[in-house]
Amino acid sequence: MAHVLRAFSNGMDGVFIGACHLNECNYVTHGNFNAMNMVLLFKKIMEHIGLNPDRLRMQFMSGAEANVFVESTNSFIKTIKGLGPLGKNEGLDDEALSSKLAQIAKLVPYIKIATKEKLNKRLNQDEYEGYFTKDEIAKLVGETPSYYIQPDKCQACMACARRCPVEAIISAKHEVHVIDQDKCIKCGTCIEVCPTKFSAITKFIGHPAPPPPPEGKRAIVRKSKEKEAA
Ligand code: SF4
Ligand code: SF4
Repeated sequence: MAHVLRAFSNGMDGVFIGACHLNECNYVTHGNFNAMNMVLLFKKIMEHIGLNPDRLRMQFMSGAEANVFVESTNSFIKTIKGLGPLGKNEGLDDEALSSKLAQIAKLVPYIKIATKEKLNKRLNQDEYEGYFTKDEIAKLVGETPSYYIQPDKCQACMACARRCPVEAIISAKHEVHVIDQDKCIKCGTCIEVCPTKFSAITKFIGHPAPPPPPEGKRAIVRKSKEKEAA
């Protein structure tokens, strides 16, 4: 998905993906099934952001099928020429187009995590239609989670920072930890690893997390001190 987005963001009007026939992949992973599912998903995302999904096509072919390659690429080029420049035919100006593409690019890691089960399924051709639905995509994009570390609960144990796969947690000894929302891929690992006795992380759905305490005001409140004060 990130590669397709990069092509569109760099001004390509269409993306054509050629892949080996299903069940003929050289690798045990059979990545062409996974790629096909991603294409089905991405076409729905394109519709969701107002782009014509015909601008993305995947064609299965073998190395011996030069005729299929020629016919399918020629037919794709004809389609794209008919559609014209990306965004223009869809009524999106350059700014709106870049902002929509950037919004989805940011969500790609989360989208892959959230749809992992469906992406990994090996579909038969008759199952492609409707595999991802409009409602599913609207929910996926509109109800993305945000994670927030509650300053009054964090005990700076560092468990979340050690396990975050993208180093999105600003971590310092004896300081409330903070999630960098721009780096966070919304994998949910931090909420799973935060010790139950602290339960310092909250998940918000569909709206952004509140701002973290500013630098210099992140000293932790020790639970034992709280008890003494009480
Ligand atoms: S949700 Fe995942 S990426 Fe985001 S801060 Fe938590 S562990 Fe890191
Ligand atoms: S795991 Fe929980 S208590 Fe520990 S640093 Fe992270 S948010 Fe704070």
